[in-house]
Amino acid sequence: MSTTERPRILVVGGGYVGLYAARRILKKMRYGEATVTVVDPRSYMTYQPFLPEAAAGSISPRHVVVPLRRVLPKAEVLTGRVTTIDQDRKVATVAPLVGEAYELPFDYLVIAMGAVSRTFPIPGLAEQGIGMKGIEESIGLRNHVLEQLDKADSTTDEDVRRKALTFVFVGGGFAGAETIGEVEDMARDAAKYYTSVKREDMRFILVDAADKILPEVGPKLGAYGKEHLESRGVEVYLSTSMDSCVDGHVVLKNGLEVDSSTIVWTAGVKPNPALARFGLPLGPRGHVDTSEKLQVQGTDYIWAAGDNAQVPDMVGRRAGNPNAWCPPNAQHALRQAKVLGDNVISGMRGFPQKEYSHANKGAVAGLGLHKGVAMIVMGKVKIKVKGRLAWYMHRGYHGMAMPTWNRKIRIFADWTLAMFLKREVVSLGAMETPREEFYEAAKPSPAPVAAKADGDKDKAGEKAKAS
Ligand SMILES: Cc1cc2nc3c(=O)[nH]c(=O)nc-3n(C[C@H](O)[C@H](O)[C@H](O)COP(=O)(O)OP(=O)(O)OC[C@H]3O[C@@H](n4cnc5c(N)ncnc54)[C@H](O)[C@@H]3O)c2cc1C
Repeated sequence: MSTTERPRILVVGGGYVGLYAARRILKKMRYGEATVTVVDPRSYMTYQPFLPEAAAGSISPRHVVVPLRRVLPKAEVLTGRVTTIDQDRKVATVAPLVGEAYELPFDYLVIAMGAVSRTFPIPGLAEQGIGMKGIEESIGLRNHVLEQLDKADSTTDEDVRRKALTFVFVGGGFAGAETIGEVEDMARDAAKYYTSVKREDMRFILVDAADKILPEVGPKLGAYGKEHLESRGVEVYLSTSMDSCVDGHVVLKNGLEVDSSTIVWTAGVKPNPALARFGLPLGPRGHVDTSEKLQVQGTDYIWAAGDNAQVPDMVGRRAGNPNAWCPPNAQHALRQAKVLGDNVISGMRGFPQKEYSHANKGAVAGLGLHKGVAMIVMGKVKIKVKGRLAWYMHRGYHGMAMPTWNRKIRIFADWTLAMFLKREVVSLGAMETPREEFYEAAKPSPAPVAAKADGDKDKAGEKAKAS
């Protein structure tokens, strides 16, 4: 951390909002006007809409993340976690990756810490569940699923095999539906290379407490998404939830019980719980209470946006709904970040603040190679698209929305290569414990096993001396 005479704009979180807001501020700022400091426990921003494709191996995981120091060369990027904010002293406490926590003074503050997986106290979930919020989880899921195929192929124990080949996904929003669509596609492809594992041996189950999936694209396309997944053999159970999953024994409220080694939890998100320690005004569900100008209520030097903020949806409110709030998605996060950046500059210079107002442009979702659903909103008209065209729209939209040309080009290159070369289906499960093999080789040898016969004893003694 540098000590600075200039005012400091502290951006807490380097995700979608943090990255775009910092870029906007740096673009609009005069030379030397302020120091922009971005704090995030990760040194990269993750483009979350691509996590399902990264899990399926359609995109290289490295291309889904954007290194903060590279795209924000004029900012001070600190790797650590902001743990508390002292508003009276205008000081944040930062816990770095290693070493003692330190205090960081600021003049202006941007809260952009996003959301975390929303979970419930379900027995077994903490031990068995796999989340889908970060690239690490996406890589882990891919390796894990392919490893289950390896396990099933290598065993003759029918129970072990069945458990390995049963995949349960809880939550049918964007994250859940896209992930099960992509992973089922990958597993189907991978099964071609196994002698004793066929797609028919696998069981894919999608569970949601609501009575529909993909609410983001509307009921008709959600129903199409469900039918489409079912046509691929995915069992979809709606209006039901998971009661427990102790040791992988999944019990659903509708009475279904299955054993599964893979339980993916994508049942929604909640605002980052760390916000509770910041002393900021929070809404009923834990979001930072933010005005339509993205200023935190009751302050004139703190702004918030994205998944951790409760931002009024001014289009909805003008249409007569006084309780309309912006949903937590990338479409809003990106646009809010730009307005927020402008407002920070205006706030610093004493100019008026701009209102955030954005009409929903629709949504696109990929459900595996060449499969998707899309809803495009043009004024009062909603255009619904499904199948291959929707999948092209999904790829086109997200490919272009990916931050930086460097990443856009890499993503399109991945897709182009995948058209000519087959999908990569190797499991690198050992990546999670890369030192294990070396440790086995390097650890001190155990005492030699006592030989039974006298002659053997002599041989064992000689071997021990030689080693
Ligand atoms: C699998 C998946 C698929 C999705 N698909 C779509 C889609 O198709 N379309 C769409 O519109 N939206 C989609 N979304 C939602 C979209 O990605 C989010 O709405 C968007 O990322 C929100 O941006 P954000 O900046 O608020 O949060 P994030 O991008 O999550 O950034 C938050 C940042 O804060 C950092 N942070 C956390 N705690 C601290 C701390 N204490 N101190 C400092 N930093 C901290 C985190 O490390 C992170 O980098 C998807 C989300 C997921 C998980």
